[in-house]
Amino acid sequence: MSSIAGQLAALKRIAEFSARLRGHELGEWHTGEGFAQASCIRCRAELRVYHSVIQPEMDGTALESLCSKGDVERAA
Ligand SMILES: [Zn+2]
Repeated sequence: MSSIAGQLAALKRIAEFSARLRGHELGEWHTGEGFAQASCIRCRAELRVYHSVIQPEMDGTALESLCSKGDVERAA
């Protein structure tokens, strides 16, 4: 088991949770070189997570602003 993959999976979960708190509904994740990104299927706000052994990070508008199309309904 790769620790980088585990770290990335954990980061994605945290990022998804944070985005959902703001009303976003994330679509599919796309994994790139050293990062993964997803965007809200409603307002297209983006979210990125970077997996780094030194300092894992996440950023994106989905973490900073509320979903403009969100009606704050609980999916689950
Ligand atoms: Zn949104």
